Amino acid sequence: TEPQLKRPDLFRSAILIGGEWVKDSSAGEPIAVVDPATGRLLGTVPNAGRAETARAIEAADAAFPAWREKTAAERADHLRRLAQLITDNKEDLARILTAEQGKPLAEARGEVGMSAAYVQWFAEEGRRIYGDVIPSPWQNRRILITKDPVGVVGAITPWNFPSSMIARKLGAALAAGCTIVIKPASQTPYSALAWGVLCEEAGIPAGVVNILTGAARQIGAELTSNPLVKKITFTGSTEVGKQLAEQAARTMKKVSMELGGNAPFIVFDDADLDRAVEGAMVAKYRNAGQTCVCTNRFLVQEGIYDAFAERLARASAAMKVGNGFEEGVVQGPLIDERAVAKVEEHIADALAKGGRLLTGGRRHQGLGGNFFEPTVIADATPAMAVAREETFGPLAPLFRFRDEAEAVRLANDTEYGLACYFYTRDLGRAFRVSEALEYGLVGINEGLITTEVAPFGGVKESGVGREGSKYGIDDYLNIKYVCVGGL
Ligand code: ADP
Repeated sequence: TEPQLKRPDLFRSAILIGGEWVKDSSAGEPIAVVDPATGRLLGTVPNAGRAETARAIEAADAAFPAWREKTAAERADHLRRLAQLITDNKEDLARILTAEQGKPLAEARGEVGMSAAYVQWFAEEGRRIYGDVIPSPWQNRRILITKDPVGVVGAITPWNFPSSMIARKLGAALAAGCTIVIKPASQTPYSALAWGVLCEEAGIPAGVVNILTGAARQIGAELTSNPLVKKITFTGSTEVGKQLAEQAARTMKKVSMELGGNAPFIVFDDADLDRAVEGAMVAKYRNAGQTCVCTNRFLVQEGIYDAFAERLARASAAMKVGNGFEEGVVQGPLIDERAVAKVEEHIADALAKGGRLLTGGRRHQGLGGNFFEPTVIADATPAMAVAREETFGPLAPLFRFRDEAEAVRLANDTEYGLACYFYTRDLGRAFRVSEALEYGLVGINEGLITTEVAPFGGVKESGVGREGSKYGIDDYLNIKYVCVGGL
């Protein structure tokens, strides 16, 4: 059952290579895509392997010289048109997204809106790729710096944001003058394939954007080893990111990695409790807890612990869980059975180690399937699995701490360093703590901070590189130093 669309042609079951929509599946039977809310088959997409990937890379390489030659303003025109088309087709794109990913339609609309915003941003930013003239240490020579597109980009994207993760990579790559081969997650290929339709409609030349669905390992192996590819950009798990970085190192490709997190959300005694609970709800439950910036650990100071726990549990219990297409639903299903099993494991482990269940704790009683109850567990300890591993689901464990130093120590006690949040009304503490936290993104008294104008990315094992903002284009550029002598 396909989603009901105004433009059914946006729902594609073919891959895009060099301007041709093809169904080649050299890696095996076509891939079945199911609606995580109903378990129903949405359709099948090609199961591409190395052969198709090599062809897509060649197409991107062939399209590169002409795309690079265009002026920045010409590329910006295409990107602006693309942003407009995404906006014009927002409702259909949101429906495709909810059908394959499960998130509530309102969140899907938000994600599609963000996608348009990223593309629009890079359309503007592409015109500001300035070089430099450096004062020369020699009288008869001049030093010029230019920034050039790296070339063909290989992009691998995850299922939790099937649209906006493409926007961040495609927007920056195309604005810089690069061409791209994209492999979306197999759970959510339709949002990606719709991008192909809209890129064509925006007049982006054949081969500049290529989209493959199929065997992750085969496609990844070709993208990371083919010498025509000059950069790999990946959003997904730390485990796969490390593999890809290792493979890409053999041909010394540039890499950007947006990997896992273990986000702490710290509530100090002096926090505004209403604000903290409100921020906690979005930072924890957006996309059913399946984002790399979702809170994984709540660290709560002794004096406010009971009040915060009680308020968070109450708000969590009041959430409406259900099919993302249903009015008023704020939490959809998890992506699949494996995701549900991981949440169950973390809960069982926490309860076995002395955790106290305040609400939830089970698969959703009425809905079953991939639906899970928003869950809050008090008395969490560092011995629990949830202290170390990303749950990627609707589980909120509450750890207790005594003072600022302990909070910072607990927050940094992880190999990850993507997002963190803390709530305080003390200005000095706000500065001290934000400077001490080893993270790429810090929300102070704010639980939702992603925007196209600010750099997104992590430190430590959460990755390398930044997406969005004026910094987001750097990863797609090479710096060239030209020395002009004999003057
Ligand atoms: P998750 O656990 O959230 O599904 P993954 O890192 O497994 O995250 O997936 C993110 C993306 O990486 C998806 O597009 C997936 O298909 C792809 N992927 C998974 N394994 C590999 C691999 N070995 N090589 C290349 N891509 C992979």
